[in-house]
Amino acid sequence: MLNLSRRNFIQSGSLTAAAGFIGLNSLFTQMSCKPSNTRINGNGKLSLKFMPYDLKLKHAFTLAGSSRTTTPVMLTEITYDGIIGYGEASMPPYLGESHDTAAKFLSTLKLDQFSDPFQLEHILAYVDGVAPGNYAAKASIDIAMHDLIGKLMQQPWYKIWGFDARTTPNTSFTIGIDTKEVVQQKVIEASPYKILKVKLGRDNDKEMIETIRSQTEVPLCVDVNQGWTDKYKALNMIHWLKDKGIVFVEQPMPKESIDDMAWLTENSPLPTIADEALQRLPDVKKMHGVYSGINIKLMKCTGMREAHKMLTLARALNMKVMIGCMTETSCAVSAAAQLSPMTDWCDLDGNLLISNDIFTGVQIVDGKVTLIDKPGIGIEPII
Ligand code: MG
Repeated sequence: MLNLSRRNFIQSGSLTAAAGFIGLNSLFTQMSCKPSNTRINGNGKLSLKFMPYDLKLKHAFTLAGSSRTTTPVMLTEITYDGIIGYGEASMPPYLGESHDTAAKFLSTLKLDQFSDPFQLEHILAYVDGVAPGNYAAKASIDIAMHDLIGKLMQQPWYKIWGFDARTTPNTSFTIGIDTKEVVQQKVIEASPYKILKVKLGRDNDKEMIETIRSQTEVPLCVDVNQGWTDKYKALNMIHWLKDKGIVFVEQPMPKESIDDMAWLTENSPLPTIADEALQRLPDVKKMHGVYSGINIKLMKCTGMREAHKMLTLARALNMKVMIGCMTETSCAVSAAAQLSPMTDWCDLDGNLLISNDIFTGVQIVDGKVTLIDKPGIGIEPII
């Protein structure tokens, strides 16, 4: 397993842009590292490289059921006619993927059988069919393919999809469950953001909210990560939260609690959002009537193409839509941000929570997701 320091990366040399495209040089070459797998083919074929990387979290990330300080990711590059598309798989441990599983999956792919990257539906159907699961690894291919195609078309994906960059929502900044002192410090750090996402689900929920409310009046949303098990207590808590200026409640109860969740949504004064309860496109319809909306994440649903379909279906079902992320570099976050103009809320702070990002991409300006007019997913490696 390679573990690259940002210092080595910065020392590795400069990136040369050519022909108006960004990122024509291999990130892995720039990082002076041998990727764990290389498929070099003739002209007009897709070739894949991938490389493991560990994200360092600025703060230990504590949810209702776990705590960690690093997140393993797999970086991918797909090259076609000298143009490189970048992708990423983020693999927090609770999702069951790892450097090893991703490397195994990506090693089995034979992308060199494809000579036309625009046959994306066909290519991604092949990738999805190679093995079950491996959703993040599949997303790393999907994102790299979208980046590649956008660069070939010389357009960013939000434009290809017909979205208006001016309609992106504010992004929420996440505050994990922690001691009062640490929460207070995080709220100070979060001052540029117009909405905060507060993790709840342990035994200090009210203290978390009261601590934050003593410092700021910005809108809050909460993510319980399945932490509440009694629907009556959950409803009481949601009424209390409404009085505190909370905007929505994400995954309040265990994902298996379908009937209780449908009851809670029907009676809740705040929208409820499914996160752990759904992954892919067929799940959207199952969430209809159970939750008010869905949280789409590229790492759960195999990437941008399926995420776009989920967004369209949820809208047709009159459901709320948010787009979220894992802890990720600006690569996967910028890919997700291409969908953000059509969402109600977005939670795209994954790159802001790490100290060793290796891309620049979407920016947060005045708390708002700000898309840039660069082709593909709009990123450049930091050299
Ligand atoms: Mg969540």
